[in-house]
Amino acid sequence: MNNKYDLIYEGKAKKVFSHAEADKVIIEFKDDATAFNALKKAKFEGKGKLNCLISARIFELLIKNKISTHFIKLENENTMIAQKIKVIPLEIVLRNIAYGSLCKQTTIKPGTVLAKPLIDIYLKNDELNDPLITKDRIELMNILESKDLDLIIDLTLKINKILKSFFKNIHLQLVDFKLEFGYDLKKNILLGDEISPDNCRLWDLNQNNDTIVSLDKDRFRNDLGGLIEAYSEINRRINDFI
Ligand code: C5P
Repeated sequence: MNNKYDLIYEGKAKKVFSHAEADKVIIEFKDDATAFNALKKAKFEGKGKLNCLISARIFELLIKNKISTHFIKLENENTMIAQKIKVIPLEIVLRNIAYGSLCKQTTIKPGTVLAKPLIDIYLKNDELNDPLITKDRIELMNILESKDLDLIIDLTLKINKILKSFFKNIHLQLVDFKLEFGYDLKKNILLGDEISPDNCRLWDLNQNNDTIVSLDKDRFRNDLGGLIEAYSEINRRINDFI
């Protein structure tokens, strides 16, 4: 990244730089992968580029469907220009199928199709290990007004409908995903962060039997190998479809 821009923030998978226009930022996607609150770390050459390209296509799809997002445009293969937002410190997880932490923390069996989407909200705080949080605790902490929380939940359900049907078209099952939202300078709520196989569970529907084939970060979490091949396959299917 050109050094005339200041690094504002560096996260586990992305760097955020200032932009010449104060209401915009430059987001660079890194090749680093982390899991279990960064207890497990690795680098995958090309992951940053794939997540940036996939996220850009998904943001464009959502914008076409009237969802306000921070995405403005791709700058190059691993960099995008986005609206500057004040990130709301909540991770909104929507689950269509039970897997991952839901099955570790409840008696629900992995692979159970949920009768309706389940929304789990986590406090975005690495020191506290991103705990599951309640509406009342969010209110107690004054994180955001309850009308804004309702709006975010509503947006997440709408995004699920759009993404579920889009991914089905390219033979992928959207198991679950995590979203983050923020306020722009005019106090509008925008979808932020990224939408990629790093924060969505996507299962291949091109299978003849019931075997689960994960094309997402579970390949790294569960030592399945082939992460770049899986992300490349998703990028290829998206580009062939659009
Ligand atoms: O781990 P868990 O089963 O709760 O994850 C649910 C979904 O949220 C998965 O798609 C996972 O990739 C995503 N997630 C995330 N960042 C986190 C926690 C979960 O992207 N910090």
